[in-house]
Amino acid sequence: MSKVKSSETVKVVIRCRPLNRKEEAAAAGVTRTSGGVGGIVEMDMRLGQVVLWNPHGPPGEPRKTFTFDSVYDPSSKQRDLYDETVRPLIDSVLDGFNGTIFAYGQTGTGKTYTMQGVWLEPERRGVIPNAFEHVFTQISRSSADRQYLVRASYLEIYREEIRDLLDPNMHAPHVPNVHTHTPRTLELRESPESGVYVRDLTSCVCKSVKEIQELMNLGNQVRSVGATDMNEHSSRSHTLFLITVECSLPGPDGRQHIRVGRLNLVDLAGSERQAKTGVHGERLKEAAKINLSLSALGNVISALADGRSGHVPYRDSKLTRLLQDSLGGNAKTVMVATLGPAPQHYEETLTTLRYANRAKNIQNQPRVNEDPKDALLREFQKEIAWLRAQLSHREGRGKHRKEEGEEGWDREGDEEGEEEVEKERTLQEGRLEEEKEAIREDGSLLAEEKQRLLGEKERMMGDLKKEWDATEQLTAKYKAMESKLLVGGKNIMDHTNEQQKTLEIRRQEIAEQSRREREIEQQVMVQDEETLELKETFSSLQQEVEAKTKKLKKLYAKLQCVKAEIQDVNDEHVRSRQELEQTQNQLTRELKFKYLIIENFIPPEEKNKIMNRLTFDPEEDQWKFTPLVPAERSGQFSQMKKRPASAVGYKRPISQYAQVSLVMGAHSRYRAENIMFLELDMTHPTTVSLDHRPSEVGPNYSPYPTDNVPHRERAARVRMSRSWCQTPRAITSSTSTVSLTTHSTATPTAAQ
Ligand code: ADP
Ligand code: MG
Repeated sequence: MSKVKSSETVKVVIRCRPLNRKEEAAAAGVTRTSGGVGGIVEMDMRLGQVVLWNPHGPPGEPRKTFTFDSVYDPSSKQRDLYDETVRPLIDSVLDGFNGTIFAYGQTGTGKTYTMQGVWLEPERRGVIPNAFEHVFTQISRSSADRQYLVRASYLEIYREEIRDLLDPNMHAPHVPNVHTHTPRTLELRESPESGVYVRDLTSCVCKSVKEIQELMNLGNQVRSVGATDMNEHSSRSHTLFLITVECSLPGPDGRQHIRVGRLNLVDLAGSERQAKTGVHGERLKEAAKINLSLSALGNVISALADGRSGHVPYRDSKLTRLLQDSLGGNAKTVMVATLGPAPQHYEETLTTLRYANRAKNIQNQPRVNEDPKDALLREFQKEIAWLRAQLSHREGRGKHRKEEGEEGWDREGDEEGEEEVEKERTLQEGRLEEEKEAIREDGSLLAEEKQRLLGEKERMMGDLKKEWDATEQLTAKYKAMESKLLVGGKNIMDHTNEQQKTLEIRRQEIAEQSRREREIEQQVMVQDEETLELKETFSSLQQEVEAKTKKLKKLYAKLQCVKAEIQDVNDEHVRSRQELEQTQNQLTRELKFKYLIIENFIPPEEKNKIMNRLTFDPEEDQWKFTPLVPAERSGQFSQMKKRPASAVGYKRPISQYAQVSLVMGAHSRYRAENIMFLELDMTHPTTVSLDHRPSEVGPNYSPYPTDNVPHRERAARVRMSRSWCQTPRAITSSTSTVSLTTHSTATPTAAQ
């Protein structure tokens, strides 16, 4: 069941960072804007407007104005953005909505600063750490009848591959050098219940801010590996931190209902142009992938903003598929577009502003996820209830035993402290010991009878021990499960006192107030323009002419703006087409190279075999090999997967000769390298003496005997040369000398 809320647009805010030192030095003495000295961006925080001027344009060129939900100039604080823009979104997630915040912009404009910030300085902490605090504080302040389960996952999309940054194998203490491993890659799947999701993505239950921060740190360690090895890897991938908050609360029908809110915190890779960065080789491939996924994102935004095109190309990239819910889906979305005020990045800044301007028109239909089938909290609750039942059942058995006349059992319920349980255990054991002692000392019993009774008591003791151990295990499991659930009404953090709560509420109210004011001002501005002419009355013809001329001038300026806009959009289109062409050329080159290898080095029959096994997986959007043995029959043919073992215990097939020589402890080179069984020639090697005196050396002299060696002998020598490995006993240093000599004498003869 889900409650449908009316549709709402994607919230788009702009943030401009201050000029950095290099940029300031380059632009010293030029105009001063709110972006700083030499900046090309002006911001009106009250109206939510960004004004951009072209540093290379002619002097009279009109400035470009864009209006957004909010804008944050370089002097704005992290807290301002959070309170005004992010806080309401996180509150919605806690109420069971899906929420997404993504940072978009050129590299170095402050995406990561906005999303993460400086963790150690509270003033400069970004959206993610503030969201962590917010989630857990709100949980601690909620009413006591609510139970929460918070989970987190962390992934990155690098070169169109989804990598799990919390992969336990990467972080396991036994893995010797985690830096040599790459995180495993995962697949995207889609289900009608939970939409698009990442299969087998690690998700960790978090009980506090500290725990979730540790997870983020762990993930960042894996990411930062690439920053050294692959040169600026961190800005070369898109990262997504996913927090799932499940809340169980009593509904109006008196039953417990579960709401699940998912929060996606996305830091996109830089949107700069390939041409500008001047990258080659591998970096170019990376850039091509980034550009492709970002242009896929752009296409999705355009298609959604347009509203007319029926097809939205979500499937063009992993990023757009993952953000499917957030763009035009059932999530509440905030886009933070980041800008730099430096003149040299005018084009990128304009592109970012256009991108953001388009995204403003996307309509989402946020709804509360109520009682979804895959809620983990429900499973936890069921498991806890089962464990509790088991424990009380055991307790019941204990009580029963007590009623039967046994002393010492005084357990009241499962809230009883551990100490008491332990005391009880010692008491029971002591009692059994006493009984055993009593039997031993009882003189009236026969020896046999005594033995039987003692054995019985011993067995009882064993049973009791087993039962206690099982109970202990159950209690531990129960406690572990229960500790994962957070219950409202408990102060998790010390500083969540009343004063702070009031302060936060005030801040929120102020933020809400200024947001409303801005909205009204924007509406008034639009209305003013429309109604101005209606109010005007003219007393004379002259006055009317003046007014109309003024209006004409205004409209003419507007027309010029629109024309310039059209020109800009065309230029932009041409540029992006050129870039796509460049990427296409690169890919065609690679394809040709691969074709060349296939055509020249792979036999056609092998190629056909491979081709026959290939199938296209539309879900994953890639070609895959069908397994040789169908999955359902693989059990039957399990031996087919195994490597044939020709010699048990050896690494590879081994000849009989090598086996024999191994047994005899012969030379180590025969251990595993002879894979053929060669029948041995037992003839003794023959050598020819090279005892020639220099005086006998004539013009036709050859050191090798030729005509004077009979044919049969020659043939034998050829044979010998092939079979110089004699029986194991024959392998001595002298044999090998002989064989070498034979070889040198025989070869030229055979060649004749
Ligand atoms: P991106 O992630 O977009 O590539 P970064 O977030 O790494 O860019 O920012 C680049 C640099 O600019 C960092 O040194 C960061 O501290 C600084 N910076 C970005 N935004 C701001 C801001 N609003 N105020 C101060 N410094 C900023
Ligand atoms: Mg970054």
